[in-house]
Amino acid sequence: MEIYLDANATTPVLPQARAAALAVMAEAFGNPSSIHGAGLKARALLDGVRATARRVLQAPSGQLLFTSGATEGIQTAVLSALNALRERRAAGQAIPTVLLYGATEHKAVPEALRHWNALLGLRLEIQAIPVGPDGRHDLAWLRAHAPQAGLVCTMAANNETGVISDLDGIAAALAGSGALWLVDGVQALGKLPLKLLERGIDYAPFSGHKLYAPKGVGLLYVREGAPFTPLMAGGGQEGALRSGTENMAGIAALGAVLAALEQGGVFADATELQARRERLSEALRAAFPGLVLNAPLALSLPTTLNFSVPGFSARQLLDLFDAAGLRLSGGSACGAARAQPSYVLQAMGLPAWQTAAAVRLSFGAADDAALIDAACTRLAACAQALQASGELPGAATPGRLPALTRFVVDGACCYVLADADSRRCVVVDPLPELTPRLPTWLRAHQARLLAVLDTHSHGDHASSATDLRQALPADLLQPADALGWPQGLQALELGGCWLTRLPLPGHTQDSTAYLLHNPQGLRLACVGDTVLPGALGRTDFAQSAPAAYGGSLRTLLQAVGPHTLLLPGHDYEHRLACTLAVECAAQPLLEGVLSGQLDDAGFARAKAQLEQHLGPTEYQTLACGARVDCAQGSEPVELAAAALQPGGLLVDVREPYEQRLGTAPAPAGVPMRALPWSELAAELPDWLAQLPRHTPLYFICRSGNRSALAARALRRLGFGQAWSVAGGLALWPAHEPR
Ligand code: PLP
Repeated sequence: MEIYLDANATTPVLPQARAAALAVMAEAFGNPSSIHGAGLKARALLDGVRATARRVLQAPSGQLLFTSGATEGIQTAVLSALNALRERRAAGQAIPTVLLYGATEHKAVPEALRHWNALLGLRLEIQAIPVGPDGRHDLAWLRAHAPQAGLVCTMAANNETGVISDLDGIAAALAGSGALWLVDGVQALGKLPLKLLERGIDYAPFSGHKLYAPKGVGLLYVREGAPFTPLMAGGGQEGALRSGTENMAGIAALGAVLAALEQGGVFADATELQARRERLSEALRAAFPGLVLNAPLALSLPTTLNFSVPGFSARQLLDLFDAAGLRLSGGSACGAARAQPSYVLQAMGLPAWQTAAAVRLSFGAADDAALIDAACTRLAACAQALQASGELPGAATPGRLPALTRFVVDGACCYVLADADSRRCVVVDPLPELTPRLPTWLRAHQARLLAVLDTHSHGDHASSATDLRQALPADLLQPADALGWPQGLQALELGGCWLTRLPLPGHTQDSTAYLLHNPQGLRLACVGDTVLPGALGRTDFAQSAPAAYGGSLRTLLQAVGPHTLLLPGHDYEHRLACTLAVECAAQPLLEGVLSGQLDDAGFARAKAQLEQHLGPTEYQTLACGARVDCAQGSEPVELAAAALQPGGLLVDVREPYEQRLGTAPAPAGVPMRALPWSELAAELPDWLAQLPRHTPLYFICRSGNRSALAARALRRLGFGQAWSVAGGLALWPAHEPR
């Protein structure tokens, strides 16, 4: 069963709201503007819901319009306020110079301000009201700026953090300023009294789907006497303030929710909600040691928890929760598709890792208490899955040690090469962001760490090699040189494989590749930044040896040949790995230098010309692997689950902890392999050597994101029939978490 904990994004529809909507659609479907009996019934329903809304919102005066949702309400309010300013200016009056909005406001507010400010030709300055580390508006700042403000927009409660604004403090800061005041009441509806009249709020938009009504219905309160301009003109519905035949099913459903609020018995009260949140936060803290809350609970809605866990990205945690059937989100739903740090937490001045790793848990006041208990049990199961996969301390038995594991942080890659039997392992390019995750992972896998190697002295980020050696000193081969290679050793043995090194000066003077061999031959090479998939190695650091770079590329070609798998030090575009043959096909400059058509001086000249042509920023982007062949990655790779063909291979790229929590897909007639995205590169040498390039490879993950990356990476490596199963396990037939 799915446990939905994303109520700030949207809620399910309350059964009585569903029934009310169905009744309208089935029987009372009249148009409230018609004057026959069916129309009169609809009109009575409309008036009844509006009357309930007035009581619930304590808004006996002013306008209360039905809208399609809060975004429309915000547009209408902003248009109304800004059009009034425009008219005053046109009449020759002096008008205020700025428009203010809270820095943590929902995007609908600043975007509406920008849109209407430009469209109405006002060209007023738009400024964000700063917030403190607790997420609340800086009232001293507001007091100082209010006299110049034409419109001030402040939300009642924040959708990401749940932080409740100090509306009395804001009202006091605005007193006497003449500024119009918009309060986005979306997250407060049914949870906080807004005291619209008492506080002198001019506009307050609300949204039905955040409180158990369906999407597509909302309310806008407009204070008596506040300026108003209709957003939509037409048939004159809603007293000509909002034309368009009313969404009667939505309004009936909203009416049922408002009636439930008024009558009581459906929604838990604040004390009970706080107790439920306390249970959830205790379960989270027990599951994730080191978890931090990103907003003070005492100032937040009792239904919202925003947290970050050190060492875990938001994406990782969301994948984990989703596998356990827990639906949470990273920040707001609108931003969830993009993996961007939260602007709300950034505005609060929280550390970068917290803003990038933030996860939001929000439940609804109509949720069952048993659901909260079930969620706590599943959070504990998530922790157990992480422990069993070596991602958290506390595993009872050591996990399977993969031959190769890739850790990626912000496009920088770290590799663990290991022998499963002897548990010997070598870490290449440890990243500071992987502390403490990497030492925890190594300990949980009972890995015997022989060496910690850097492929070069890094120019753009630090290595955490020293810390890692100190954390797991027992099996280290000592003494080692500056890059960590054990002195006096020609080859470093890892079970049946061995590692050798190859100096490749260029990116830096000390750049080195590490070559992994087995009895059959060379398997792969960790090449640091000398070859980046889709990019030119950078040679603009103080430590660089640009003149040697072309020669080093040829040395690499001689040592490994065109088809050996190369694992890069950076992979910004998720290309995973490459070969020199693949890079030559994508990059004419590399092709020139490797084929000998371009000598070192010619190569350096061509790079310099490119830099001049593109400018330093663009060039750096190119050199960092974000440009050369990005067009190549745009061809469609998705295919429906039903289109899987016998003869192909289905590869589940979810991480081990997700696979433990969820069930695996079982397609008829297509063999299935569990091969996590972090371990996929280990398989590539065999696939490159043995698998016919036309073999259908079907990748699947939770949502279709990682599987699409995998399919693109494999296409780039020559597998033209690499596909991603569209929608992943979320759309896979009959997938249920355990
Ligand atoms: N304001 C806030 C605080 C919200 O949380 C949302 C929805 O996420 C909106 C506005 C937009 O509401 P709607 O989806 O009804 O347009």
